[in-house]
Amino acid sequence: MSPQPALPSWVTWRQRPFPDANLLLLNGRRPALVDSGFVGHAEQTAAWAHAHAGSVDLVVNTHWHSDHVGGNALLQAQGAAVAAGTPEAEAITRRDPGCCAAEYLDQPVGPYTVDIPLDDGRILTLGDADWEVVRTPGHTPGHLGLWQPDERLLVVGDALSDYDVGWVNLALDGPGAATTALASVQRLADLAPRVILPSHGPIPADPGAAFATALRRAQRLVDDPDGAVWYGARRIFAYALMIRSGIPTDEVEPYLHARAWLTDAARLLDRTPETLAAELIDTMLRSGAVVLRGGRLHAAASHVPVAPESLRVPYPRAWPEPAPR
Ligand SMILES: [Zn+2]
Repeated sequence: MSPQPALPSWVTWRQRPFPDANLLLLNGRRPALVDSGFVGHAEQTAAWAHAHAGSVDLVVNTHWHSDHVGGNALLQAQGAAVAAGTPEAEAITRRDPGCCAAEYLDQPVGPYTVDIPLDDGRILTLGDADWEVVRTPGHTPGHLGLWQPDERLLVVGDALSDYDVGWVNLALDGPGAATTALASVQRLADLAPRVILPSHGPIPADPGAAFATALRRAQRLVDDPDGAVWYGARRIFAYALMIRSGIPTDEVEPYLHARAWLTDAARLLDRTPETLAAELIDTMLRSGAVVLRGGRLHAAASHVPVAPESLRVPYPRAWPEPAPR
């Protein structure tokens, strides 16, 4: 293992395999959890946070994807406030059907509300330290990072990880999404952090090198829009297989044909959904990203199983109206 930069004692960080984002707890007078994992593991997330902090005052979401907001509902029921980027906060309050891209991606999220909308430059006390909100759209339009200038800690969400940059959704967020994502990675790099805290994978040993690689990868998404669409499709499909503990072989193609993200990707790639679905399965089988086992297609990447019943939560269009708080 490569050496990990030292963290202050008030930062508790745990790398977590898919389908959950990493855990980051900021201890102090106002204990705060950054992102809350997948809905199927909400109880583990809350138990971990309580074991390390007693109670959680605030959950801050880097963005609303299902692997980052799945514990929000439970932690909120236990008394935590939720903070998220303003565009997401407004959509969540309206109960917009596009919330969390949950329906679009077919990734369940339990109903929650946002108590504190976050704009760029907002200073938040998390634990005992002040953190600055750094809006970093691209992976999603509401995506944000968090910057702690004294310790030079930078929470980067899905903007980059040790192994790649966050996928972009050119169908949902427009053809400029990759350029926006690249500018966001550059903005994060310009802060020159001592420690990068990513939502997936390990803490990069060398932040400068991690940014140099991430900038090259983000540039590639700009230069090769088709490649960017393929990259997103592979990530979304692998995630679908993870949270379902695989999909029976004969159900995989019908599953894909019914997905909005697949239909959109097919349009951008000038293919039929049927052709793209077959090609996606074939290329991922050949690369080893998915494997056939026991009559099901599984994601090969390391991940923790999810209880099937935990997937049965309503899409945001059917979420109850937010209760007055
Ligand atoms: Zn994400």
